[in-house]
Amino acid sequence: MSAFAGLYEEIKNCHKCEISRNRTHAVPGEGPENAEIMFIGEAPGWNEDQQGRPFVGQAGKFLDELLGLIGLRREQVYITNVIKTRPPENRDPLPQEIINCRPYLERQVCLIKPKMIVTPGRYSMALFFPGKSIGKIHGTAEKRDGIIYFAMYHPAAALHQQNLRDVIKTDMMKIPGVLAAANPAPRPEKEPEIKQLNMFEV
Ligand code: URA
Repeated sequence: MSAFAGLYEEIKNCHKCEISRNRTHAVPGEGPENAEIMFIGEAPGWNEDQQGRPFVGQAGKFLDELLGLIGLRREQVYITNVIKTRPPENRDPLPQEIINCRPYLERQVCLIKPKMIVTPGRYSMALFFPGKSIGKIHGTAEKRDGIIYFAMYHPAAALHQQNLRDVIKTDMMKIPGVLAAANPAPRPEKEPEIKQLNMFEV
């Protein structure tokens, strides 16, 4: 069994939290195992719990649209959440639930080795930008230990606050530039020959 399949099995069989009793499906995450970009949302909602897939409801539709703005399809990025089981009534994840799920998230990051981790929303932002406020750091990136962390508002925020829609789109469109700046195109193997001008040549 591959490391990923083993991890997904563990998540599906995990009962560290009370909420596991009432779930339809655990939602480990999905996407290429070598994805360059990893999106880490908050927690599965009702649609995600039904399908066992992340970001498949309204927020997911907006995420698809946002990815389209930078020429990507969801199959090209890895998408997961801070916690892998839907909290009842869509309440916020509890601190203990986040602690219990954290080793799964850390293993996902280690296996995927993404170039960039995007943190939509408060909970993933709190993990990767502790003590920072989303209002201040959305649309900005920080590189640590070889990974670029990029903060943005949660796509669901735009469903409640229309004015955030454009802010989120503008932030999303910064991603290709941030990635390109961190990974400049490789220099050609052979330097182009520049003919030395000898000023004294006759
Ligand atoms: N769907 C998810 O999978 N995660 C969220 O954070 C919101 C919706």
